[in-house]
Amino acid sequence: MGLTNPQYDKIRRDYDRKQLENRAVQEARMQEVYGRLPRLREMDETTADLAYQRAKRLLAGDQASADKLAGQLQEIKEGKQVLLTSAGYPVDYLELPFHCPFCRDTGYVDGKRCRCFEQAIVDMLFSQHPIHERLDQENFSTFSLEYYDREAPPGGGESPYEHMKQILAQSKRFVQNFQPGLENLLLTGSAGTGKTFLSNCIAGALMKKGVSVIYLSANQLFEALADHAYSREEPEQEEYYHWVLDSDLLIVDDLGTELNNSLVSSELFCCLNERELRRKSTIISTNLTMNQIRASYSERVASRLMENYRLLRLFNSDIRLKKREERLGLAVNTKDGIKDGGK
Ligand SMILES: [Zn+2]
Repeated sequence: MGLTNPQYDKIRRDYDRKQLENRAVQEARMQEVYGRLPRLREMDETTADLAYQRAKRLLAGDQASADKLAGQLQEIKEGKQVLLTSAGYPVDYLELPFHCPFCRDTGYVDGKRCRCFEQAIVDMLFSQHPIHERLDQENFSTFSLEYYDREAPPGGGESPYEHMKQILAQSKRFVQNFQPGLENLLLTGSAGTGKTFLSNCIAGALMKKGVSVIYLSANQLFEALADHAYSREEPEQEEYYHWVLDSDLLIVDDLGTELNNSLVSSELFCCLNERELRRKSTIISTNLTMNQIRASYSERVASRLMENYRLLRLFNSDIRLKKREERLGLAVNTKDGIKDGGK
């Protein structure tokens, strides 16, 4: 399950395509700005001319003249920035744009594969492209607290709304302070409380920061663990498994919904353990309670989660149900305190 040559070529071609697109964007902006600010075109022409003369002076060993020309070039550069910003353009408007700030869409940094290249390999190996599309929709800016009840539960305590506000803040801090291996999260709560949405928010925000993220359903993870357990030492299988252990962040969605057996359960413990040894972070979401985790997997797995994972317990009435009601126009207005269909 390693990367095939055609897959590798596809990633390389994607970088070539991005670079071409970037240059086309830059060229179009240049023409637009020249049209509006003819003075800027003149300054660019002068810059090209002075740079040529400076190169000649340097070759002739005339350092003093070259330095003087360098000073003039700097002045023109600053003048261009003033002209550009006073016309309302961002100061870097004419710079070559790029998606990845680390490699500027070349795929390499200091001769090594950039983290975005590694993520592209992971995405290809684990067929993560549908996830990227989902992340465009499910992120911190689209996360709405309005789906959480503002009423405190009958027994007292925090309302789901207040509680979720804190969980959201904790999740944002997790992203802000992220260092591989620093912290793991266990998101628990019944179906429809927003666990998957929240882990998507975290995944997307970290990917933007260049963190390598593998997002697996519990089913996919257990398949990978089973493949690893039953076909040890096959090189292709090892490469696939290496990513499961070595991504900066592994997200396991909906633990407890997979088919598992005792061999694979013990593989789960080894995987979580190995990731901690390698100083990597893991987020697990589950509907299961700690007792159910103990019963379904093992005491070792349960106590590892209790000791080394920050527990974020989500609760609410079923959000997906609410969203469906909203779409059907059956929404009950909780903001005005009208509940139970406004009877
Ligand atoms: Zn990059």
